[in-house]
Amino acid sequence: HKTADDNPTYVIATDTTFAPFEFRDTKSGDLVGIDMDMIQEIAKQEGFKVDIRSLGFQAALSAVQAGQADGVIAGMSITDERKEIFDFSEPYFESGVQMAVAASDNDTKGYEDLKGKTVVAKSGTQGLLEAEKLATKYDFKVKALDQSATMYESVKNKSAVAVFDDYPVLAYGIAQGNGLKVVTEKIPGGEYGFAVAKGKNSELLASFNDGLARLKADGGYQKIVDRYLAAPE
Ligand code: GLN
Repeated sequence: HKTADDNPTYVIATDTTFAPFEFRDTKSGDLVGIDMDMIQEIAKQEGFKVDIRSLGFQAALSAVQAGQADGVIAGMSITDERKEIFDFSEPYFESGVQMAVAASDNDTKGYEDLKGKTVVAKSGTQGLLEAEKLATKYDFKVKALDQSATMYESVKNKSAVAVFDDYPVLAYGIAQGNGLKVVTEKIPGGEYGFAVAKGKNSELLASFNDGLARLKADGGYQKIVDRYLAAPE
């Protein structure tokens, strides 16, 4: 929390594993990714310190609402519903939801094939909302889980037929060989933003926006994105 000195320390909540936005580097054990590198870089430039808490998505949002964390950066989509309880930064990444199935699954080609089956999505996310929206029309069940890793595992071990998650995250995992594939179109919408509790931590939010604008202007933002998403030579 903000202290009286010139370099306040802010508690920043995030998801556990949401590569390429936040995940543990297998060698160093450090939390890395686009969100992590960006908040560290902005903190350095704007003169504040961060204490990162890797809590899980829903827990991260709750921590901010409860005043246990000052801000959240977790590939969090800017939505009108969330604007009722959070103040968001300028958007920093274009995203949306998509469905993925096991790479070995040749039967599930679209939402019609989900009839009577179970899909998974992450608690408190847009992926869960999108899955629930489609569930009635296509007559399937939706199970909420707290972590991306558990969701992917349940698709691979066939306790669920599909997972709804953000498409940049699915694409990254699939490119790393996580054993899934996408079979439906992207559902667009949901740019990512950094968030604070509504009406709180306005100084932190202003610093984030200032730092983000600078990173976008000086190429630092692109450098961070390319660190994780540049096509291999
Ligand atoms: N972008 C999605 C949301 O905000 C998912 C975020 C996540 O799983 N970390 O709901």
